[in-house]
Amino acid sequence: MLISYKYRAYPDATTEARLNAALDTCRWLYNKLLEECNTAREAGIAPTMRGTQARIVTLKDESPSLKNVYSKVLQMVNATLWSNIAALSQTKKRGRKIGKLRFKSAVRYRTLNYNQSGFKIDREHSSITFSKIGTIPFTMHRPYTGKVKGILITRSGDRWYVIVQAEQKVSESKREGRSVGIDVGLNSFAVDSDGAAIENPRFYEHSLDRIKKLHQSIARKQRFSKNWKKAKGKLEKAYEHITNQKNDFLHKLSRQYVDTYATICVEDLNIKYLKEHGTSRGLRRSIHSASWGRFYSHLSYKAESAGTNFIQIDPRDTTQLCANCGSIVTKDLSVRVHDCPYCGFVADRDYNAAVNIHRVGMEQPFEPVEPRPLHHISVVQVLAMKQEAPPFRAG
Ligand SMILES: [Zn+2]
Repeated sequence: MLISYKYRAYPDATTEARLNAALDTCRWLYNKLLEECNTAREAGIAPTMRGTQARIVTLKDESPSLKNVYSKVLQMVNATLWSNIAALSQTKKRGRKIGKLRFKSAVRYRTLNYNQSGFKIDREHSSITFSKIGTIPFTMHRPYTGKVKGILITRSGDRWYVIVQAEQKVSESKREGRSVGIDVGLNSFAVDSDGAAIENPRFYEHSLDRIKKLHQSIARKQRFSKNWKKAKGKLEKAYEHITNQKNDFLHKLSRQYVDTYATICVEDLNIKYLKEHGTSRGLRRSIHSASWGRFYSHLSYKAESAGTNFIQIDPRDTTQLCANCGSIVTKDLSVRVHDCPYCGFVADRDYNAAVNIHRVGMEQPFEPVEPRPLHHISVVQVLAMKQEAPPFRAG
């Protein structure tokens, strides 16, 4: 399985000029080959991928700028053209009426594809050297794993990104081992059926003072002036820092769970939201729900490549049921403690829910639950977790 890791890249002015020139050349080549394919077809000759591939070599004499672009990148231009041609004819076969393949404008053409070769990654200094382009630093907020098969460099507005494509081994057989249920909530980010309570991250709140100051500083400056742009850049960086922290947190936490457990059970968020619609607690909840969704998607794809079972259950009654005896103990959102009048089981509300999620996911009957104090894990502890570290809690 090929997994893509996208990182922000920071080419200097010289390198950026080379990138833009290479993009221009590749776009010109794409359009040129497309034009020649169209002309051939009109003359009753069916063009072939091999034919256009060979054409690149002769075009180099006519248009020497092609020599400034790494040859494999040019080959990938041809590959892209033919995959677009194939996609178009597939759509036509399905009976859709569509026109010809379009020529690419500068806005639509913004990716250089270094496939298999022509790049060298320096992980230590977080930079990549591209053949015929130069060395570009990038931020590796989430380290990639696996063998790198190719790298794309892509422009988005005035930003640049590198997309590292790494081959990931998919475990054929599902793992055997411990299982866990995870409940996400408002008080803690998550509580699991082994009693771990993960503190809610407040990265935005922590940066709020700084962000306010930056906004004020921008407001005081003359629009589009040098200092205004500088202040804008600082604000952008501050927001990016928050995003990186959030991503880092979610990646590390999900990695820990996938490394620790062979089966992970969570609630199906789609059903949960559908049921809670109308009783939603507004903005605070919606901000959290975005993080929960991302947390689950990280869990899900990491679980897939690790051979961990990822089970999403119907969230019906998970908070109301007593995990110990199965009685319904109704409580509204403000009640933080589950206190069962039928069997006397007292537990943190979210812990009770996590045990229920685990039981439903594993299709197990009600069993006496061992009451245990929650084991609190701070955001700092999560951030200090290494990507491939041993489980954060043994036994
Ligand atoms: Zn009970």
